[in-house]
Amino acid sequence: MERFDVVALGELLVDFTQNGSSGQGNPLFEANPGGAPCNVLAMLCRLGRRTAFVGKVGDDMFGRMLRDAAAGTGISLDAMRLDPAAHTTLAFVKTLPDGDRDFSFYRDPGADMLLRADELPEEMIRSARIFHFGTLSMTHPGVREATRRAAALAKEGGALLSFDPNLRPPLWQSLEDAREQIAWGLGQCDILKIADNELEFMTGASEADAGAALLRERYPNIRILNVTCGAEGSFNWSDTGKIFVPAFRLGDAVDTTGAGDAFCGCVLDYILSRGTALTPERRREMLRFANAAAALVTLKKGALRSMPAREQVEEVVRGAGGPTNA
Ligand code: ADP
Repeated sequence: MERFDVVALGELLVDFTQNGSSGQGNPLFEANPGGAPCNVLAMLCRLGRRTAFVGKVGDDMFGRMLRDAAAGTGISLDAMRLDPAAHTTLAFVKTLPDGDRDFSFYRDPGADMLLRADELPEEMIRSARIFHFGTLSMTHPGVREATRRAAALAKEGGALLSFDPNLRPPLWQSLEDAREQIAWGLGQCDILKIADNELEFMTGASEADAGAALLRERYPNIRILNVTCGAEGSFNWSDTGKIFVPAFRLGDAVDTTGAGDAFCGCVLDYILSRGTALTPERRREMLRFANAAAALVTLKKGALRSMPAREQVEEVVRGAGGPTNA
């Protein structure tokens, strides 16, 4: 049985982003393959890691397109299913003037919601070194049960659990429901990547320091606590204190979709190499590398196919990739 560095469970979907307008003035949308867990795996593949995806797409035109795109990145799709019972989930992404993104989802239901606990590739999950998940696979009961079962299997097998909440409010019946499921993930994971707005959503603290302190107190299971704050950069908190690494400024961002996922993939790569007991210097090095990869992703449209190679990231870290944060 092949042993994977990272197995991720969740959504593989199409991110439609506007790419100009037609001669008649209608918006033209580009169908970018995406979905956070697969984006994370695509980054890891670029870094030479062995990864596998667990999830469903529809047995339709987009599902087949996504399968081909994900296979092209090197992600193992042995545990991915095409389900004729629902269409592939689609997301339309609008970038707002402040750089934030607005999502419209077409998922009533989407195939990613139909994954069942009895369909999990148990041996594959048990033998993973890291198991990664988010909360799109926790919005509805059946797939939520599959996520929980997979997390339990990974734990049984001794994997580290990695969690990125990736809160998408329109996908939840209520924000209270989202809060409850995110809290469950926080209580499970060893490695956390959380965006600053999600940290505030979960703790009520508008200052990241206060929010991180609350998380550390409530969830002592979290060994690696990273908070991303968009174009500002990222933080890590640990027993040895806080580390902040500013974002790399490489030029105007074209599309920030997938930046957080590239960041997350790089952090997992670092932990696969060096473990979770990291000195402050190592933590800083981890954030610098992850910020550099994320900045490169913002220069391209889409996510799955925008992940940089290790050499490109190293070039940015060394300062050869344009003006950086020295
Ligand atoms: P998410 O995509 O999960 O919401 P963030 O938006 O916080 O995550 O971004 C993750 C990381 O990507 C940041 O910590 C930062 O390093 C990098 N990043 C995001 N936006 C930009 C930008 N405009 N320029 C450079 N780096 C960016």
